[in-house]
Amino acid sequence: MGQKEILFVCHECDALQVVPAVEPGHDANCLRCKSHLFRNPRGGIDKPLALVIALMIAFVIANLHPIMDLTIVGVKLSTTITGAAYIFWQSGSPELAAIVWLPSVLIPGLIIAGLFYVLFSIRFQRNWPYTKPILVLIGRLQPWGMMDVFLLGILVSMVKLAALSSIIVGIGFYAFVLGVLLYAATLASLDTHTLWEGLKGLQSQTDSRDEFANG
Ligand SMILES: [Zn+2]
Repeated sequence: MGQKEILFVCHECDALQVVPAVEPGHDANCLRCKSHLFRNPRGGIDKPLALVIALMIAFVIANLHPIMDLTIVGVKLSTTITGAAYIFWQSGSPELAAIVWLPSVLIPGLIIAGLFYVLFSIRFQRNWPYTKPILVLIGRLQPWGMMDVFLLGILVSMVKLAALSSIIVGIGFYAFVLGVLLYAATLASLDTHTLWEGLKGLQSQTDSRDEFANG
């Protein structure tokens, strides 16, 4: 995706400036205060799109398969993340259920689905509705998607439970670890500025098409 010369306001010093086209893999810095403005990521939209597709697959597998199988005093337990949250819910701790489920399932799920929607829309020039509010929502949700923190929680509980029971790590756990890595890689490969420019590009194309049709 080629970038054009754009007008940009520095977030740090408010200097309005014309930023020339930035080569892929390079950064644009403020002319006045030298602070980082944005990056034109190498691989453009293709890389985050490929990562988010792999992430979706890992995320679905992680949610459908048990995280671990436990045997405590002869009783076998096997549960998915949502299953664990549901157990907390049933045992009268809805707060705990929410703490487990929201940052590890619902919020990352929304971010992943939203990113796929926006990236696909830009990459294949589909002017799908609501891409802009979805991109804003992703930015708001991002601090609350904490799969990595949840992974740490699983590891701690595994160590504790290993003393009491025999544990077999489930497919869901491996998929979850892969998901955490892919989640970090996807977010690292994204540049919000590039996404906004991509959406703007789509919008102007559609506008000129409309003008052509109306004129
Ligand atoms: Zn500046």
